[in-house]
Parts: sequence; C-alpha cells; structure tokens
Amino acid sequence: MKNILDGKLLARELELRLIAEINRFVAQVGRPPGLGVIRVGDDPASKVYVSNKEKACRRVGLNSVVLHLGADSSPEAIIQTIESLNNDHKIDGILLQLPLPQGIDAAPLLQAISPDKDVDGLHALNLGRLIKGEKGPRSCTPAGIMALLRRNKVTLEGKNAVVIGRSILVGKPMALMLQAADATVTIAHSKTANLPVLTNQADILIVAAGKAHLIGDEHVRANSIVVDVGIHRINKESSMPGKLGYKLCGDVRSEEVAYKVKAITPVPGGVGPMTVSMLLVNTVNCWQFHCGLSSTLSDLLP
Ligand code: NAD
Repeated sequence: MKNILDGKLLARELELRLIAEINRFVAQVGRPPGLGVIRVGDDPASKVYVSNKEKACRRVGLNSVVLHLGADSSPEAIIQTIESLNNDHKIDGILLQLPLPQGIDAAPLLQAISPDKDVDGLHALNLGRLIKGEKGPRSCTPAGIMALLRRNKVTLEGKNAVVIGRSILVGKPMALMLQAADATVTIAHSKTANLPVLTNQADILIVAAGKAHLIGDEHVRANSIVVDVGIHRINKESSMPGKLGYKLCGDVRSEEVAYKVKAITPVPGGVGPMTVSMLLVNTVNCWQFHCGLSSTLSDLLP
C-alpha cells in the first residue's frame, strides 16, 4: 500500500483542536457545548456508534445526553423528545441516530430538529444551504471526507470525482461538496449501467454503496484516490473454539486495489473516525453560535 488516508490520526488532531477551542471560552460562556443523542430501538450497530460518540464527547469536554426510546415509539413521542432538546438551552446539537426501526419515517423527524441544532446537517434548510454554498452545519460523513482529503493535500480542482451512492446521508452531500471544491463530479447508483467504465475515469473515487466488497481491481484506475465509506461486519472464526467472531470490511476489496492506487482509506480507521469528529466539530460550532462567539471552525465545514 502506497499511502493510507489515516482518519484515526486526523480525528485525534481535530480533538486536540476542539479541546483548545472549548477551554478557551468555557469559563467566559459558563457552560460546555452540549449534544443530545436520540436512539430509537435496539439496533446493535447503532448502540456501538452512539457509545463511540459519547466517548468522543467525553474526550473533548462536551456534555452529551443520550435518550433511548423503545422500538415501538410513535413518531409523536419521538418528536416530543426532539422538541424537549430543541428547547433545552444547554443543548447545542441534536443527533437522531439512523437507521430508525422499520416503519418509522425519518424525514419528518429530521425536519423537527431545530436547524441551528442540526449537527447531522440533514434538515432541509441545511441541505439547501449546502446547495447554495451558504454556511451551515454539514453532513458529518462527507464533511469528514473533505477534511481528510484536504489534510492529505489531495487536489480536487479540475479532477474527475465519481461518487458511488446517492443517499441524502452520504452520496448527495458528498457530490455537492466535491463540486463546490471544483471537481467534476459524477454520481453512480444502483441503476447505473456499466459501473467499471465510469469508475475507471475517476481520479477520486468515493464508494458509499453499502455493499461489502463491491469494488475491486476492475473498477479502479491506476494512481487514483479511493475513499471507502462502507462498513460491514463479516463473520469469521474466532480464537475461541466453536465461536464466531467478526471483522470489519468496507465496500472496496482493498487488498486487490492497494497495489495501484495513490492513496486509500482503511476500514476501520478511515472515514468512521472522521464522521465522529465532524459531529463534534458541528456541535462546537453550534455552541459558538449559540453563545455569541465567532466561529473558529468554519474551515472544517465545506
Ligand atoms: P444507503 O443504502 O442509503 O445508500 C446506498 C447507495 O448506494 C444508494 O444510493 C444506491 O443506489 C447505491 N448502490 C447500492 N448498490 C449499488 C451498486 N451495486 N452499484 C452502484 N450503486 C449502488 O447507504 P448510505 O447511508 O449512503 O451508506 C452507505 C454505506 O456507508 C453503508 O455501508 C453505511 O454503513 C456506510 N456509512 C459509513 C459511515 C462511516 O462513518 N464510516 C457513515 C455513514 C454511512
């Protein structure tokens, strides 16, 4: 492997920057930044993600409150919980952990989050701001990828970027951010014909299809930059006889493409830590706004 885009390393650097920003102003404003996380149901992966986010909050001195609702909660009950956080002056950011249990539509719930506390950047107003190039909280995963590319001095201007995936969470905001950075962007999706022909034109290939091992040698151009957003648990034999363990993998068969790429994100340790970091960045940025402080983190919000 020639070059790893190390998200874990950059996440650590960003945490140090956030600690400094919080320490600089916490005495003046009288409270640390606050994040409210709502988890609905018992999806095991979501439980792990929320716990990782809580730990990250503790590391930087951010106050986090996790509200866990049952899988059978009504949309009205979830909206009521969102409203209570909207009205809580110690809470700067609200995260509704996705995915929600089957049958609950996320759209009206995301819309109920106050746009100035929307640290996932998924409220229609903030997505509109992204389209218009106006300031606002940015969707964490693509914003984290932009920070990682920038930190590794990846030139985007005039480059061909292909984004696989068109979700509101990753693919679409990713494409908009790359376009705003002057890349020429193509979005591929599940109905795209002849994917390898398209992806072979990519100087920068962002893979967010959510399909383990989808992308291999035949898709990847020599000397390109590959960002693997996918994250999957694959069962494997554990060292305990008779028990199954698991390992994490991405959407890319990284061992197959490693020899030809210029740089690639690892799974784990690439996009995942950057997503958590950007949640912290968005929350501290909202805290600065709510407390009447100047924003010192806008370079991280593409
Ligand atoms: P999603 O299921 O909402 O969207 C997947 C997209 O991929 C869709 O637009 C679909 O059209 C496209 N797609 C599916 N199969 C395809 C194929 N064969 N060829 C081309 N396109 C195809 O998923 P999402 O929420 O955008 O997440 C994508 C992946 O990223 C998932 O594995 C998710 O777990 C992961 N993810 C990781 C992080 C992180 O922090 N590492 C954050 C968010 C999402």
